[in-house]
Amino acid sequence: MQLENVADIYPLSPVQQGMLFHALSAPKSGVYVEQYCCKLQGDLRIPEFQDAWQKVIDRQPALRTAFLWEGLDEPLQIVRQTVTATWEQDDWRSQSPPQQEEQLLTFLACDRTSGFDLLQAPIIRFRLIRLQTDAYQFIWSFHHLLADGWSIPLIWQEVLTCYAANCHQTTPNLPPLHLYRDYIAWLQAQDTATAESFWRSQLQGFGEPTPLPATRTGVGLSTEPYRQHIQTLSPALTAALQSLARQHRLTLNTLLQGAWALLLHHYSSQDEVTYGSVVSGRPTALKGVETMVGLFINTLPMRVSIEPNQPLIPWLQARQQQLLDLRQYEATPLADIQRWSDVPAGCPLFESIIVFENYPAASAPDLTFAIHDIRYLEQSNYPLALLIIPKDSLELILLYNPARFAAAAIAGLQAHLEMLLTTFVEQPQATLADIPRLTAAAHQQLTTWETTDYPRDRTIYELIEAQVEQTPDATAVIFQDQNLTYAQLNQQANQLADIVRSHGVGPGDRVALCLNPCLERIVSILAVLKAGAAYVPLDPTYPAARLDHCLQDTGPRLLITQQSVALPETSVAVLYLDGDVSSPHAPILPSPLLPKPDDLAYIIYTSGSTGQPKGVMVSHRNLVHSTTARSHIYPETVGRFLLLSSIAFDSSVAGIFWTLCQGGTLVLPPERIEQDLQQLASLIAQQQITHTLCVPTLYALLLEAINPQQLASLRTVIVAGEACPRTLAQQHQTRLPNTRLYNEYGPTEATVWATAYHIPSDLSAGPIPIGHPIPNTQVHILDKHLQPLPIGAIGELYISGDGVTHGYWNQPEKTAATFVDMRARSGVGEQGIGNREQGVGNREQGTDANIQPPNHPATQLLSHPTILYKTGDLARYRSDGTLEWLGRCDRQVKMRGYRIELGEIEDALRSQPTVQEAVVVARAIAPPAESVENLVAALATLEPGQADTLLAAVEGGN
Ligand code: AMP
Ligand code: MG
Repeated sequence: MQLENVADIYPLSPVQQGMLFHALSAPKSGVYVEQYCCKLQGDLRIPEFQDAWQKVIDRQPALRTAFLWEGLDEPLQIVRQTVTATWEQDDWRSQSPPQQEEQLLTFLACDRTSGFDLLQAPIIRFRLIRLQTDAYQFIWSFHHLLADGWSIPLIWQEVLTCYAANCHQTTPNLPPLHLYRDYIAWLQAQDTATAESFWRSQLQGFGEPTPLPATRTGVGLSTEPYRQHIQTLSPALTAALQSLARQHRLTLNTLLQGAWALLLHHYSSQDEVTYGSVVSGRPTALKGVETMVGLFINTLPMRVSIEPNQPLIPWLQARQQQLLDLRQYEATPLADIQRWSDVPAGCPLFESIIVFENYPAASAPDLTFAIHDIRYLEQSNYPLALLIIPKDSLELILLYNPARFAAAAIAGLQAHLEMLLTTFVEQPQATLADIPRLTAAAHQQLTTWETTDYPRDRTIYELIEAQVEQTPDATAVIFQDQNLTYAQLNQQANQLADIVRSHGVGPGDRVALCLNPCLERIVSILAVLKAGAAYVPLDPTYPAARLDHCLQDTGPRLLITQQSVALPETSVAVLYLDGDVSSPHAPILPSPLLPKPDDLAYIIYTSGSTGQPKGVMVSHRNLVHSTTARSHIYPETVGRFLLLSSIAFDSSVAGIFWTLCQGGTLVLPPERIEQDLQQLASLIAQQQITHTLCVPTLYALLLEAINPQQLASLRTVIVAGEACPRTLAQQHQTRLPNTRLYNEYGPTEATVWATAYHIPSDLSAGPIPIGHPIPNTQVHILDKHLQPLPIGAIGELYISGDGVTHGYWNQPEKTAATFVDMRARSGVGEQGIGNREQGVGNREQGTDANIQPPNHPATQLLSHPTILYKTGDLARYRSDGTLEWLGRCDRQVKMRGYRIELGEIEDALRSQPTVQEAVVVARAIAPPAESVENLVAALATLEPGQADTLLAAVEGGN
């Protein structure tokens, strides 16, 4: 350390210590480099101006300070006696104003990243750039360690006073000097015990920061400089806010803090939010503190709870009191507060901060130049900061880390903030729940949905019959070396339908199908539909207990199977397709009963959390909607579709009915073809497959293992059932650039699909979206009170529209829990869906004439009150209107396309006589198999060694 030229040495304030630590840990990030820029217009006398700055530096110790830390127990600040600041001048007069502006931005970015050497005072530099004969750009850069925003006008005031004196060759008349070291001494005399108990009580039970609606996945400090989004409120809104504040004895700062808390509440769906409030940190007890140059500001956590029924104004008044209470402890370092909280070390208390820049203004009487276009650029280490600049037109600046936020998302936040402030003014009597969560633009965006006409009053087999008329000789189905034309398929289906009917089957009945792969799988489906019944597809490879449950649960009138299928004992009438298929009775003639569009077309079982699978009831109308919607989304008609899903999964429905309604050929592969990728690829090449749908995991394996030439016939590939990894999309682009790739999303309960996304060749950052709702379908992102969330906010995905099915077979409570009847909630229509009668033609179609205007917020998003299916999926709308899937909010997992409720497995394990307790979790297997998971169970068993056997059964059985 240089010992000459030392005027003073003293410790750092805790806030300075924190800042020094951050600055040293990210030296090139530009964090805490403050840039004050302005234009100086008029007769600027440069030597007098430069000298004025030097005089202020000579006078203010804070501006001559450097920092020492190496080899010290505690860092120190050292004030030099004399220092000379770097002062550079440039002339940009030869450039046009736009070029000058561009060059300025480049300069500022460069100046920021070059940072400062904190060991060498002064940690300040100046640049004066001539733009015109009488106009200059002035840039004053310094490190935040030296001074805060409040100090800036104090410094300017002294500079301008010195400048005026220099011009008039007089002595400047400056106020008495109060020193930052006095503040350090004051701090050291404070008792931290009361502060500690205050902060502990403030933060008790608070465990994690409020998540921000970040749209990008970047973490930490940005390598790019922070960006600003500036919004100026109208003078009228500004005046109205000021008058509202006066009327209720609130400050403008309180109004903005309240709006910010509500914004965080709306975007995070949390009833308690936390953000950082930047306080001036100047203790009133310290004499002359308001004229001190130095770093006083501090950032303190504001923890705010939002109770929906609270009236707005009293709630805001409580915030104001909270801010006042905080002020008494505003010198407490954030690091200490963090330590006293339950938030784990290394995790911030909050991610957004508010700064109300209420600084005194600088002025000088007879200046020879004017100061304008002031820009004050700073970079915080929080991803998002709201800076409020009080003016006649209030200025709101969002300063953000571009690695975390897209510009459009920030614009959305700004619009939301303005909407909240407008609501404060227009509806001061509102309760917090009354405050809207969607701006008019967002509302418009979310309520616009595509409705298209489709044959609502037809059944699915009628559509297929129409196709039979058109292309009787085209090949409809291929299995190995057998095939059927449309005419043959129809004829065989008619014959089998007669036999099925002769078993007494008609509309309202169920017929179970349990067949090994063969053409008859498709013939039987059509036959059952033609007979007017719903088909219940069962996979012959399923465990006997599951088959038994499905048979008992659905109570089918008939089971169509083969003698080669091993089935549990059953009392259901059985029809063996490989045995005697003659009718027991003469077919019922002349005209059989026909199903109606609301009758069920199929019941497909999915995993259930209560230990038993649930049968989803899907009507003809659901299926006709789901099938015809495909021609709106997929531009290429189906040529040859390879059916890779088991017919017991609803993804098989997509391929079967889409293909048969379009005159394409359905290719059925042999059993378990997915386990032999070479065979799968040969089948694709040999059959010239154009379309297929499978889980992303399977498509990834195929792309990985197979020479793309073998897959060249593929025109459209759809991945569905699980999140589509980015790597898969990239690999697809390189391997099969001419094949369209789609990501389809949807639960069985909403008839196969609800949204789709055509994955473009130029992928944008972030996860692959699930796209947009398909026609006649709406997707709602709601919070736990069923309130719609703003664009960008993560919530639970609900589906409404024509794909929403009739619920679960025989499970009215389960149905009522996940098929939310908004008609009942909005006081319209009495019937909860769970109370509806089972089965046939029971769908209460909301007759619009009876429907009163809805009063539940979510119903305002619907064209008419209806039923929302609660998916359990977490998602958000991106600002470009596409949906992003973000995981589950329950314990359902997907493994290789299988939907599994972990509770179902736990229940099965617990039902073993020797198992007392069981816990099952899904664990990702180590890379590279990104989305492949395994199930792990913890068991408490009565006999040692039994757990292993049971676990093996779980893993093997899926
Ligand atoms: P299932 O009823 O078997 O079709 O399963 C539906 C569930 O699978 C959804 O609720 C999601 O959790 C998941 N899922 C389906 N498609 C996708 C997709 N494209 N991306 C992410 N998850 C999906
Ligand atoms: Mg599905």
